[in-house]
Amino acid sequence: MGAELTGSAVIVGAGQAGGWAARTLRSEGFTGRIVLIGDEAVPPYERPPLSKEQLQPVAPALPFLLTQEELKRQDIEWLAGARCARIDRRQRIVRLADDSVIDYDRLLLSTGGSARLPAIDGIDARCVQVLRTIEDATQLRAALRPGARVLVVGGGWIGLEVAAAARAVQCEVTLVEVGKQLCARTGSSHLSDYLAALHLERGVDVRLGTQIVALDEAGESGCRARFMDGASLDVDLVVVGIGLVPNDELARAADLVCDRGIVVDRQCRTSDASIFAAGDVTALRTDDGTLLRLESWQNAQDQGIAAARAMLGQDVDYRPVPYFWSQQYDRMVQIAGHCGPVAEIVVRQAAAGGVAIAELDADARLTSAICIGSPREFRQLRQFVGAGARIDRARFADAAVKLSDTAV
Ligand code: FAD
Repeated sequence: MGAELTGSAVIVGAGQAGGWAARTLRSEGFTGRIVLIGDEAVPPYERPPLSKEQLQPVAPALPFLLTQEELKRQDIEWLAGARCARIDRRQRIVRLADDSVIDYDRLLLSTGGSARLPAIDGIDARCVQVLRTIEDATQLRAALRPGARVLVVGGGWIGLEVAAAARAVQCEVTLVEVGKQLCARTGSSHLSDYLAALHLERGVDVRLGTQIVALDEAGESGCRARFMDGASLDVDLVVVGIGLVPNDELARAADLVCDRGIVVDRQCRTSDASIFAAGDVTALRTDDGTLLRLESWQNAQDQGIAAARAMLGQDVDYRPVPYFWSQQYDRMVQIAGHCGPVAEIVVRQAAAGGVAIAELDADARLTSAICIGSPREFRQLRQFVGAGARIDRARFADAAVKLSDTAV
């Protein structure tokens, strides 16, 4: 791309990562053509509110990442409702579903993911709903009526947030999770127990260790869910929240290296030096060769920014400190760091019933921190995680010791 500040930058996927990449290309001085191709009808928007504020009976305005006016002002060609169908790496063009063709010098794939569905009979029933887009949220909001019988499939973040939103409008809610823990990917049984107790207390029927095996249409618009233990449940609505499938089909068809997502290096580069990827669709190759998949708002933003800089030829070394949050009822859950096997867990009580959980490795280094209803503690712990701080276990567990004095 010449001095890397001119030419043509094409972005496929106008979500969190794609929106940030487009904005960053301009703010970093790129004067060439930017084309942002998105198959949704609206400009890039924030997805986290979809399972929170957007499910309230009167939803606030959708927070856009870039409005149409901003896109125009920044001279970003946003193609709405446009689906990219193919990448031709040899000719450096992308072909859209309507057969039109766009040239690129640098290409960014930020196509996110699609809601995963279980392979069971009846999954295409009318009562089944997923939650990934503003259209999904609008449909779900309309279906969450007082007294509606809602089955939430999946005890991960989205499932739990939907359960909380449904309870807030007095739905009858049953939540099933095949694993023995809620939010199992965090690996924290303490967090799982806390969340299970919170949801039970708010009237959700939480069932762990079971799963639906079939759905039969029943009644006017509802269905009967059948479970692996032979039980069944008649419901008006089934919301499936069992994770996402990375939208890496374009990359796979173009023979880019993919492994549960598009494999990228720390410069956000794919196996083709002219093609970059960012956000939920990626699998980041780390220093020890393992692949890191992050599905979070913070990663989509930061990797989108990093990818744009790398597209401009800047020296980029993307090393994310994972960050995630969730809002359930009046509780904010915040997580920083790499959740996984830990040597020790230390719990600290915080003000107003809040809890901070430190996960330590064998050297007492804080690998991840989980805070529930304790945002002040989280701010400090996030810094500790980023700095690779070691924690004095006894001091951490003692709420009378200032948190900033617990690192050694
Ligand atoms: P997306 O935002 O999904 O954008 C990808 C875009 O590409 C989509 O618009 C898609 O339609 C489009 N696309 C795909 N294929 C094509 C194609 N071939 N041609 C054109 N366009 C295409 N994270 C948190 O940290 N905290 C939260 O509380 C939280 N809550 C969430 C709640 C919900 C309901 C959801 C769905 C996500 C939530 N997340 C949360 C996750 C966060 O929103 C995502 O990690 C982030 O949106 C990922 O950004 P992305 O740009 O990679 O993908």
